[in-house]
Parts: sequence; C-alpha cells; structure tokens
Amino acid sequence: MKVLKFGGTSVGTPQRMKDVVKLINDGEQKIVVLSAMSGTTNQLYEIADYLHKKNPVGANENINKLEEKYLQHVEDLYATEEYKEQARAFLKEEFDYMRSFTKGIFTLFEEKIIVGQGEILSTNMVTFYIKEQGIDVELLPALDFMRTDKNSEPDLEYIREKLKLILAECPDKAIYITQGFICRNAYGEVDNLQRGGSDYTASLIGAAIGASEIQIWTDIDGMHNNDPRFVDKTSPIDSLSFEEASELAYFGAKILHPTCVQPARFAGIPVKLLNTMDPSAPGTTISNKTHRGTIKAVAAKDNITAINITSSRMLLAYGFLRKVFEIFETYKTSIDMVTTSEVGVSVSIDNTSNLSNILNELKKLGTVTVDVDMCIICVVGDLDWHNIGFESLATETMKEVPVRMISYGGSNHNISFLVSAADKQKALQSLSNHLFNNPTEVAKG
Ligand code: ADP
Ligand code: ASP
Ligand code: MG
Repeated sequence: MKVLKFGGTSVGTPQRMKDVVKLINDGEQKIVVLSAMSGTTNQLYEIADYLHKKNPVGANENINKLEEKYLQHVEDLYATEEYKEQARAFLKEEFDYMRSFTKGIFTLFEEKIIVGQGEILSTNMVTFYIKEQGIDVELLPALDFMRTDKNSEPDLEYIREKLKLILAECPDKAIYITQGFICRNAYGEVDNLQRGGSDYTASLIGAAIGASEIQIWTDIDGMHNNDPRFVDKTSPIDSLSFEEASELAYFGAKILHPTCVQPARFAGIPVKLLNTMDPSAPGTTISNKTHRGTIKAVAAKDNITAINITSSRMLLAYGFLRKVFEIFETYKTSIDMVTTSEVGVSVSIDNTSNLSNILNELKKLGTVTVDVDMCIICVVGDLDWHNIGFESLATETMKEVPVRMISYGGSNHNISFLVSAADKQKALQSLSNHLFNNPTEVAKG
C-alpha cells in the first residue's frame, strides 16, 4: 500500500480538494495524509495567541471569521443538500468546541488542541466529499494511533501495532484518510509533530505499515536545486539519496520537513516529491539510488548564531572540546557546524533559548564572541573527498561573499558555509549561477 500526503496548498481551496480526490481515486488502496487548508494553522495559532493574552473577544472574532470561511467552502465543495447539511452540522460542532476554549483557562495544553483543529477540519471536509462521490472511504483519527514517547520521539512500535489493529477493523476500503501533524504524547495528551510535521506523519505511517512508497504531494514539481523563493532559474532534481535529502531538509529546503526522511530511510521506503498542480511531472525520487559524483542542490538555514571560544589553554589540551560540548549538552542545544583551530573553536546553533546560560559557562573556558543573524548555506551532493574539485568549485563561487565558517568532511554529502543573513540571497544566487546554470562548470559535475 502507498501513503500519500497532501500539503496545505494542495487542499487549500474546495477546487483543490476536488482535484486531490480525482488524483487519489485510481482504484489502488492507499492511506492519504492531509494537512490543514493553507493559512488555517496560522489562523489557529493567532486564535491561541489571543487566548494566551486573555482576549476572548479577539479569539471569538477570529473563530467566527474562520467559521464563515469554512461555511462558504461547504457551498463550493458539495453538490447535494444532504452532504451540505452533514458538513454544516460537523462545522457547527467543531467551531462550538473551539469557542468553548474562550471561556476557561488557556495553557499550552489547550493550545495544542486548538492548533490541531485545521487537520480535523480538512480531513472531515474531504471525507464527506469522497463519500458524496460514492467512494468507499474510512477516516482514521490520527489521535487514535500517532503517539510520541517520553523523549518526544515518535513511538513507532505503538504506531505500528495500533494501526494494524485499526486497519484490521475496517479492511478493504479504497481510501483511508488521516490527519497529518497531530498526535498524542506519552501521557495521552494532544500534541503535534511541529510546524510542517504532516510530512513526518506520512513517513511514520509509511514505515509503520511497510508501505511500497511514500508520496509527498505539494505545490512544486519536486526538490529544486536551490530555493525557488530566493533564486531565479532553479530546476527540479530527479533523484536524491536519503542522505542528500536529509541534509537538504535539515538545512532549510522547506519542501520537506527535516525529520521526514529518517523513518522512510530506516524502513528502506522510497519517497517521491510530486506536484498536485502538475501531477504528470516526474518530481523527485528519494531512495538508496542516486547519481554519483554530482553536486545536487543548495539550501539555506536561517536564524543561526555563531559562537567562538578562544583559549590559550586549548593549545595541545585534551578534553577542551569535551568541556565545550558538555555545556551545549547541559542546555539541550544542538550544534550545527563546528570548526577548530589550535587556539579556538567556533560552533553554530539555531536554538538560542539558553544562549545567555551557555555564554556564561563558556566564559569560564576562554574568550567568547558571538555573531548573530547568520545563515548556513549548504551545498549537497555526492561529495566524497575522492571526487576532487567539488569543494574548490563551491568555495570559488563564494569568493564575493564574506564567509564566517566553512565545514567539509563531516559527511560525504555536504559543504557548509556560514555567512551573514544579509548575504544569503547573493550566496544562493551565486552558487546557482556557477554550479547549475553554467554549462562549463556543470560539465565538471
Ligand atoms: P506543503 O504545504 O505542501 O507542505 P511547503 O510550503 O511546506 O508545502 O513546501 C513547498 C514549498 O517549499 C515550495 O512552494 C517552495 O517554495 C519551498 N521550497 C524551498 N526550498 C525548496 C527546494 N529546494 N525545492 C522545492 N521547493 C522548495
Ligand atoms: N498544518 C500544519 C502546519 O501548517 C502541519 C503541516 O502543514 O504540515 O504547520
Ligand atoms: Mg510542508
């Protein structure tokens, strides 16, 4: 069985929902994971914000506005009064439930419930529509089987067992629909897999059922060789290895949630990135196979802070790096890039919630300087050190950009440059021009 995930824009209007149903109604049994309609999750976070700020009137106004929007969708989506009625009754119940949050206390616990309603809305709306078309469909509530453990990691064993039981109770359905993003935590409370986490849901379900393929349907024809939001003339990549896709997702290629590749990779399930607006486009296949010896793509990760620690004591001192890394571990802050010299070490982080504590501790080890508003530019491909010339080619393209750190050799798949956020676009465009859009240099790759 295949698992197909459709993102927010793919179900962003009633017409798009109809297009999705046309696409998935091909006689092959499948599990379909849906995100919230685009914009809805943001609006739900805004409603939660009003409630955190103890403004129930503002929250209610926004809930009512959202309800009106969905009532209009009902008119546009269903052909029959019977289904319009069912959908309206469902919406009434849903929005009354949301309004009930404006009356009591509002904590992070309630926020998690509110922000997950977008997926409840989209999956129910689409399921009603599929039923109206006379197609045999089952809506599987994600909260019945998606679960994380005490470390907030997905509990794949639980998901596998639960899904097996649930699917056995309703076998032979043509289409199973479920919600992306939402889950329960180890204590059974409603939680989520972070913004953009529906990709992760699809990958986890794929791994849990041993799917033959996981398809991530979105609004672009696959992973492009650079970020199309910032760079002209990007083009889709036909195949990536799991490792290359992981690096790109982690280092900012928004098309894929950073955690999404791992479950598929461990289960050995190919992931396809496909375009709902152009279903016949080949898209990108992520698998164990890839074109060897090529630079594939460039991505950028924002909001990076660089920290440099210099100490004369580091000179020939073993154990210095351990002391530095222990401080980051104590404050649960992961490090992206590391460079060392005889007298110092530079690291980059993206989570600055414990920065002042970290800096206080580091100052006991040496002189500390901090650069904020940085960005990691990551060049990804089959960059094994035996493939000579790639690192010099990448570095050469950056000659017009001030580079704070360079990292190469941590894996066979990436060269990273730390630059100021203000230089991000210039760096990305320059890499595209030289690595992908210049016939003589492309020939080297
Ligand atoms: P969805 O709502 O379907 O999950 P996303 O907005 O999360 O879609 O991801 C798709 C978007 O990712 C594209 O519209 C594109 O702007 C952006 N994007 C960023 N980097 C890349 C890249 N390297 N290749 C393709 N798309 C990218
Ligand atoms: N709806 C959620 C979000 O907007 C999850 C997702 O779309 O993947 O972040
Ligand atoms: Mg996404």
